Amino acid sequence: MQHADCLFCKIAEGKIPSKKVFENEHVLAFNDLHPSATHHYLFIHKEHTQNVNDLVETEPSQMAEIFQAIRFVTQREGLDQTGFRVVTNSGPHAGQTVFHTHFHVLGGEPLRGFGSR
Ligand code: AMP
Ligand code: ZN
Repeated sequence: MQHADCLFCKIAEGKIPSKKVFENEHVLAFNDLHPSATHHYLFIHKEHTQNVNDLVETEPSQMAEIFQAIRFVTQREGLDQTGFRVVTNSGPHAGQTVFHTHFHVLGGEPLRGFGSR
């Protein structure tokens, strides 16, 4: 079920524009508006869930669909050769700001150390 007030549902429905890098029946990937690396994509499932735990509880096969798309795009862009990072933020301590499950894919340059304290 889509959520009327969800930014990424609106992007999935084409109501808010995005720079798409991949789309099939279930999965959409688009450029992050504020990139943290040369390549910074967001991968979402078109079905709304709040975070990765919610997604796995709701329909775990969505994980495979998303990661098949990540494999396709990272291979197409050559990021599989140079390396890339997949990140999903869940909840306040991780700094999640959009509550539609999404996977950041970062690459295209050496990435700085992961996380912070
Ligand atoms: P997170 O902080 O993990 O919830 O990630 C949310 C991401 O969505 C951030 O990296 C934002 O830059 C990105 N973002 C917010 N609004 C948009 C938008 N309209 N199009 C593309 N990316 C967006
Ligand atoms: Zn949503």
